[in-house]
Amino acid sequence: MQIPNTPTIEALRNAQEVFWLNPKLTAFREADFGYPLDASMIADAEARLRRFAPFLAKCFPETAENGGLIESPLTETPVLQKALSPAIPGRLFLKRDSDLPIAGSVKARGGIYEVLKHTEELAFSAGILRPEDDYSILLQHRDFFRGYKMQVGSTGNLGMSIGIMSAAVGYEAIVHMSADAKQWKKDLLRSHGVTVVEYEGDYSAAVAEGRRRSDADPTSYFVDDENSRDLFFGYAVAAGRTRAQLDAMGIPVDAQNPLFVYIPCGVGGAPGGIAFGMKQLFGDAVHCFFAEPVQAPCMLLGMESGLGQGICVQNIGLHGRTDADGLAVGRPSGFVGRVMENLLSGDVTVADRRLYDYMRLLLDTEGLFIEPSSCAAYAAPEALFATEEGRQYLHSHGIAAEQATHIVWATGGRLVPLEVREHYRNTYL
Ligand SMILES: *Cc1c(COP(=O)(O)O)cnc(C)c1O
Repeated sequence: MQIPNTPTIEALRNAQEVFWLNPKLTAFREADFGYPLDASMIADAEARLRRFAPFLAKCFPETAENGGLIESPLTETPVLQKALSPAIPGRLFLKRDSDLPIAGSVKARGGIYEVLKHTEELAFSAGILRPEDDYSILLQHRDFFRGYKMQVGSTGNLGMSIGIMSAAVGYEAIVHMSADAKQWKKDLLRSHGVTVVEYEGDYSAAVAEGRRRSDADPTSYFVDDENSRDLFFGYAVAAGRTRAQLDAMGIPVDAQNPLFVYIPCGVGGAPGGIAFGMKQLFGDAVHCFFAEPVQAPCMLLGMESGLGQGICVQNIGLHGRTDADGLAVGRPSGFVGRVMENLLSGDVTVADRRLYDYMRLLLDTEGLFIEPSSCAAYAAPEALFATEEGRQYLHSHGIAAEQATHIVWATGGRLVPLEVREHYRNTYL
C-alpha cells in the first residue's frame, strides 16, 4: 500500500491532535455523493418510523409522551459557551442524543431504524402486517420473530440499540462485542436476554466473526455497520427533526445565519447520516465537522490518504486503543467516506484526556452529563476559533461569527451507571 506522506498523515502517525479542513469541500449543488442518494430516501425512513410509532409507544413507554418518536432535546449551553477556550461567539447548543430513549445514544436512531425496517419486511412477507395497520399489533407476534436472529458487531452502543430493540420485537439477538466494549454495556444487554459474544480483538474482528456466523444461518440478519444504507438513513432523519426544533426557537439557518454541526465519528455511519441529512436541508448554509480520537482517526486517515476503506489506523502505526469506546474504530466506512468527500467541512482529532476535561466542564457549567466519547466534538468549535486555519475558513466562507449557530452532537450517556460516571469524573484529574 502506498501511503502518501502528507503533514496531516505525519501528525496522525504521531497521535497528535489535528485540525483538518477538507480541500475537497464543494458547493452543495455541485457535490458528488458517489452513490445515487437523495432526500426522498430520508423521507422514506421518516415515514417508516412514523408507522412504527404506535408500536414503540407501547413497547417503550418512555417514548409515549413523544407519540412513539425517538427524539432528544436541543439545549442551549450559554455558560459552557463562555467557558470554552476561546469562548465561542454566536449561540452554542447541545443536541442531546445522549438522552435518546431506549438505547441512550445516537445509535437509537440508525440501529433501531434498521431493526424496524427488517421487521416490517419480514412481517409484510409473512402476511401478519399491512402498511395501513396499527403497528402495535406486532406485539402479538413475538413468537413469529423468535424464529429469527439479529446479529451485529459492536464497540458497545450499536450493540445496545440493536440488542434491546431486537429483544423487544422478539428476535433472538446476538451481539459480537470488541475488547473495547465496557463491561456495564455487556451486563445490561444480558439483562435484556441478549447473547453477548466477547472478542479479544478490536471492532473489525468482532464484525468479521459476527458476519461469518450470520451468513451461515438463513434465519439470521446481520447489521453491517461498515456499509449499511439503512443505518445511514435512520441517522439522517435527525436533520429534519432538528430543523423543527430550531424553527420552534425562531433560529434561522441561511447564508447570513449559518449553522455549524460537530459530530463524533467512529465508522462514520452516524455522523455521515446526520451530516448528509443536514446538507440536504440547508446546503451551503450548514458546515459539518467530525471529531475522532487521536488513536482512531479512521475517517480522516481514509479521506486524507484517498484510500478510504483501504487503509486502517494500524497501517500508520497507531495501536487504535482509546477510552472513547464509541469511536474506537480503525477502518472507516467506505460508503460514508465517499458520500462525505465533497460535503464534510473538516475533522479534528482529540487526545483521550481532553474528553474528560470537556465532560467535567459540561457537567460543572450546565449540569449535563454525556459520555467521554461523545465529548470529542467540543474540540471542533474550539479549533475553528483558536486556529489561523479556522479563522481563514470563516473568512473565506463570508461568515460573521456572531450570526452563527453551533450544535455539538452529544452521542451517548443516559445509560451510563452512576458509579461509572463517578469513575469518569475522577479520570485524568
Ligand atoms: C457509535 C458512536 C458514534 C459514532 O457513530 P459511527 O456510526 O460509528 O461513526 C459516536 N459517539 C458514540 C457515543 C457512539 O456510540
